[in-house]
Amino acid sequence: MSRIHLSKLSKLNKSTVSSIVSDLLEEKLISETMIGQSTGGRKPILLSLNRAEYRIGAIDFDPDCTYVAIGDIEARVIRRKKIKTESGRPLAFIKKCLNELLEMKKELNCANLKSIGMSIPGIVDTRNGLIVIAPDLRWKNLDIRKIVHEVDPNGIDGRVLIENEANSSALAEQWFGQDMVKNKSNIVFISEGIGTGIILNKELIQGSFDAAGQFGHMTIDPDGELCICGNRGCWEVYTSKDSTARRFGGRSFNGSTNGELGKITALAKNGDKLAIKTLVETGRYLGIGISNIIKAIDPEVIILGGAITQAWDVIYPEIAKEIEARVFVDIKKKDIPIIPTSLVERSSLIGAFALVIREIFRGYRITRG
Ligand SMILES: [Zn+2]
Repeated sequence: MSRIHLSKLSKLNKSTVSSIVSDLLEEKLISETMIGQSTGGRKPILLSLNRAEYRIGAIDFDPDCTYVAIGDIEARVIRRKKIKTESGRPLAFIKKCLNELLEMKKELNCANLKSIGMSIPGIVDTRNGLIVIAPDLRWKNLDIRKIVHEVDPNGIDGRVLIENEANSSALAEQWFGQDMVKNKSNIVFISEGIGTGIILNKELIQGSFDAAGQFGHMTIDPDGELCICGNRGCWEVYTSKDSTARRFGGRSFNGSTNGELGKITALAKNGDKLAIKTLVETGRYLGIGISNIIKAIDPEVIILGGAITQAWDVIYPEIAKEIEARVFVDIKKKDIPIIPTSLVERSSLIGAFALVIREIFRGYRITRG
């Protein structure tokens, strides 16, 4: 891509583009690669991202399995390891994941890996790098930066960024999702847990205490089942992968249900009546909550992540039906797209990379007048 092309795409004038390009060249984020085809005047010099220059570490914590990975500046996974989550011993487990990452760093010979992004299913203090509470993992008050420093005192503790799982997933969709999502300013991501990441006017909504987007714990039945948060009838009690598995007659609420949803989906595809009924019910409850979110947020697009998206053919008609019945006509007319994630990797893992990438490029962000 040439400077002229960038100027046309960004609608910024040529001198602004040239000045940003010089900064990026200095930081070695991009390089001048070759001479392009002339369209009349001087042949343009083509620019490209220095994919090999930056390596980023990512840890994506999840109650079932955690991913440790190294990727590049475009959030492409170079190596990834799946580790069974040992939530009962948080400190030891986080250190284990960090050691895996350091091992990977050594194997791939990435001396230039100095930043890690982490995604956590819970409320985090992003500024100070603390896990405040992660109910599904039963983790509380963990100082991630301190732990990283203990494991790697002279290495990667310089830039450790943590974010809630749904927020990091929303960021992944904004940066690396399909084009129609990337072009939107107001995006809601719904993770399988259930968490919601909200992007309004292109910015992730954090809230006063980094706790915005707790739609999973909005009450939809005051006398409903007990939720892990201590309240009754939260949305996630009816829609999460655990609750879907539980309604199907799967394992207990506290047990691992990874893979269970996949089995239910496979059974539904083969016409199993109970599996279809269970997923229809999940779809219905998803639709009820999504209707509330539409009324509260008025987003341009809603993206669903996680294993439930494999049952899209069963759940989507139910979601659409509830929105049709519950959302005000004037909002409904906008036909807000409700779509499954297009990311091949887990959105929250790509989001962990995106946290670091956003930070790298933050200094180059331009606000158009
Ligand atoms: Zn709850």
